[in-house]
Amino acid sequence: MSKQMSNLEKEALNLIKNSDNGILQSELVKELGLDSREGSRLVLRLTKKGLIRREQVSVNGRRTYRLLPVESRPEKASIKIDITTILDIPCTTCPYIDQCGPGNFYDPATCHLMDRWLEESVNKIAKLLRRAPIAE
Ligand code: SF4
Repeated sequence: MSKQMSNLEKEALNLIKNSDNGILQSELVKELGLDSREGSRLVLRLTKKGLIRREQVSVNGRRTYRLLPVESRPEKASIKIDITTILDIPCTTCPYIDQCGPGNFYDPATCHLMDRWLEESVNKIAKLLRRAPIAE
């Protein structure tokens, strides 16, 4: 689905986004100087593009729609993870990793390789903390 927008669509979307609690479709149509048919088509296009949503409301006994912007989400999120601290975890090269699990013969809770790695890691961190300057 194309996300390209015409100037009219951009203008309509700005009006909808800048409204406090959405805008009635009839108000939008009036604001843009359109007739109701053109307005309906415009609203449908914006809805199909996922840019706005419609809530059915009744105003003076007449059914209409309140138009609200759809909050955009970032397409991609990236998180930087530093894996250097776990690169030497024994599991990465363990021949029993497929059989290892809680309650199994090979179990991380009782694994001496894991114990040793944890102990060494804690010692490394403790050593780094001892070297770190003390905050005042
Ligand atoms: S916890 Fe121990 S046995 Fe299990 S995968 Fe890691 S190193 Fe291997």
